[in-house]
Amino acid sequence: MSRRVVSFHYTLRDPEGRVLDSSAGGEPVTYLEGAGQIIDGLDEQLRAVEAGVKTRVQVPAARAYGERDPAQIQRVKRGLLPIEGEIQLGEQFQTGPDRHSPVVTVVGVEGDEVLLDGNHPLAGVALTFDVEIVAAREAKAEELSHGHAHGGGGGEGSCGHGCGCH
Ligand code: ZN
Repeated sequence: MSRRVVSFHYTLRDPEGRVLDSSAGGEPVTYLEGAGQIIDGLDEQLRAVEAGVKTRVQVPAARAYGERDPAQIQRVKRGLLPIEGEIQLGEQFQTGPDRHSPVVTVVGVEGDEVLLDGNHPLAGVALTFDVEIVAAREAKAEELSHGHAHGGGGGEGSCGHGCGCH
């Protein structure tokens, strides 16, 4: 089966209808089908959608950022946290210096202990995407071998293949 490179605009909402994210006013998102560049549930449901079509895609939590895992909530001593002053419920910070370090959310403060939730902030949340596919074409062999789309809003940088596609 051939795979496509798809460019789309989207507005992402939670079940209460709040806008969580949107590509409106910016570049469309471009991805290679089945390459894990966008969340699985969206990738799957856009397979049959042609360029020029607007559609609404609903993705259950399990096919988006996963269900919430209660085991991801940890109790730690407040003094171990990189926070000065008051700790606010809902405050988020990274657990390491790397920008890919997991993000944790403060979900409770009990005395000198803090409850930290290591679940993704969107874990357990069903997502609704209003999508407009602006372009779709067959993937090139080079893109298939790299496992991502080239050109069309990928931004500057390098994917490690020297193609400057990210
Ligand atoms: Zn590449």
